Amino acid sequence: MAGQVRNSHLCRHAREDGNHGADQERARLKKETFAALFQAAGKARAHSYAPISKFNVGAAFLTDTGNIYAGTNVEEAGFNFTIHAEQGAIAQMVVAEGRTRITHLVVIGGEPADGMACTPCGHCRQLLLEFAGDDLEIAAAGPDGDIRLETTLGELLPHAFRLSNILDR
Ligand SMILES: [Zn+2]
Repeated sequence: MAGQVRNSHLCRHAREDGNHGADQERARLKKETFAALFQAAGKARAHSYAPISKFNVGAAFLTDTGNIYAGTNVEEAGFNFTIHAEQGAIAQMVVAEGRTRITHLVVIGGEPADGMACTPCGHCRQLLLEFAGDDLEIAAAGPDGDIRLETTLGELLPHAFRLSNILDR
């Protein structure tokens, strides 16, 4: 799985070129994965509780155990305890399976025409790192399913401070 994800740049090129059988198959799988995650994130986003910001976010990820978890943002009047979509999904995963590995993440945010890429915030990037490697494949999509940014956790959080920094001293 790690190798597959690490080749995300190749996948993108393969999709554009439309050749190479193996790469095509990989791109097709990726498309199906995106579709499943987009659907789950969209359902979660429909329940977003964002009365203050009106900024509805949905996130869904796939684990290496084959399960999908989704979350949405939850606000409160004081702003101190707003729960982000990724955090809600991670909490559900830990309740259900304990610590497992996240392999693909889709985040939906913004409006249909704004073109904004809603990536995980800094806090969520750090939290995701507990359950994913630098090769975690992340797609930021608009509400209509248009992919606005494809990246990896390693690209979003370079030179990260990791659990190993504490445990491996
Ligand atoms: Zn966040």
